[in-house]
Amino acid sequence: MGSVPNGRYPVGVTFPVVGMVGGGQLARMTHEAGIPLGIRFKLLSDTPQDSAAQVVSDVVIGDYRDLDTLRDFARGCDVITFDHEHVPTEHLRALEADGIPVRPGPDALVHAQDKGVMRAKLDALGVPCPRHRIVRDPADVAAFAAEGAAAEGDTEGDGFPVVLKTVRGGYDGKGVWVVRSAAEAAEPFRAGVPVLAEEKVPFVRELAANVVRSPHGQAVAYPVVESRQVDGVCDTVIAPAPGLSEGLAGHAQDLALRVARELDVVGHLAVELFETADGRVLVNELAMRPHNSGHWSQDGAVTSQFANHVRAVLDLPLGDPRPRAKWTVMANVLGGDYPDMYAAYLHCMARDPQLKIHMYGKDVKPGRKVGHVNTYGDDLDDVLERARHAAGYLKGTITE
Ligand code: ADP
Repeated sequence: MGSVPNGRYPVGVTFPVVGMVGGGQLARMTHEAGIPLGIRFKLLSDTPQDSAAQVVSDVVIGDYRDLDTLRDFARGCDVITFDHEHVPTEHLRALEADGIPVRPGPDALVHAQDKGVMRAKLDALGVPCPRHRIVRDPADVAAFAAEGAAAEGDTEGDGFPVVLKTVRGGYDGKGVWVVRSAAEAAEPFRAGVPVLAEEKVPFVRELAANVVRSPHGQAVAYPVVESRQVDGVCDTVIAPAPGLSEGLAGHAQDLALRVARELDVVGHLAVELFETADGRVLVNELAMRPHNSGHWSQDGAVTSQFANHVRAVLDLPLGDPRPRAKWTVMANVLGGDYPDMYAAYLHCMARDPQLKIHMYGKDVKPGRKVGHVNTYGDDLDDVLERARHAAGYLKGTITE
């Protein structure tokens, strides 16, 4: 290890440089996790105002879609990792050809970039997923729906509703449509990207199985969590998922570890799952980076997802993923009508000295994730109430 001196550190400092592409809150919190280890951090960010660009000292402002920019950025980095999954695969291959380790590598990352590729691979591995196929147009969506009705022996129904997803570019529910007829199915095709149709799973709840894997093959599994969404956006995460049987939790962890191994993922992998009424789990999505469903681990686990992601990309031994409290709850703070969240600190901190606040330095815009809070303790109702209160108070929806 050891990189090009750039005047930022004393000459004798030879700690590795982690290059992070993307300046969002995940980069900001990954940087934070590397600080106690003395890891140096270099950031490629779209703007100086991005969440991580505000706090990292070594920042390159540039466009990750431009190969020359990426190459210049990668010079002097010991490893490249990501805040998001949007870097073109061919660019990542070029960096690898230049001799820069890219973690997770392009062959793994494509499964988190393209939902069509991900579904095909999971099918090949025999991993349970919602019924799905790529559809060509609204008429094909109707055919997909009808196939579902026929498979269920439903001779009356048309098989709707169906979930449609653009295979690339979606996040936080954007790029996902629930359609009730072929007539409603026109919109997803407008973007000109392939569209994936899925059965609308009547899940009882959403879970996430988060694991971290290193290049030398060590892997750790966090407790399976419950993730509650509001309007397609994660609202609350409970660790561990309340009432989840040991059998199903272990199965979900094994499944996530297997996906990480088979896809050769390095770093944090979030496997988003649907739990069904008959006690099965189906894979919804994969994310190969620290993930919202793992934020609880900052305060609730021995080693956070961010710290373990840093360890993994540097091929260091991984840290203990076990929980530190019986229950930890993470509640996202979404932008509301009150732009001055700092004013809310006085009340939140005085009311709950155990509260952990994590703000991202982002503009408060309605519905935008601008931070989260973590609470922990022995009584789930109490822990949930404290998290909800703090998130609501910061947002301005709770005023006392
Ligand atoms: P993204 O993470 O890109 O926003 P997801 O595929 O995770 O998109 O979908 C967002 C949300 O939509 C999920 O968390 C879930 O609540 C709902 N959803 C997605 N796919 C299905 C499905 N096949 N059946 C039922 N609900 C779904």
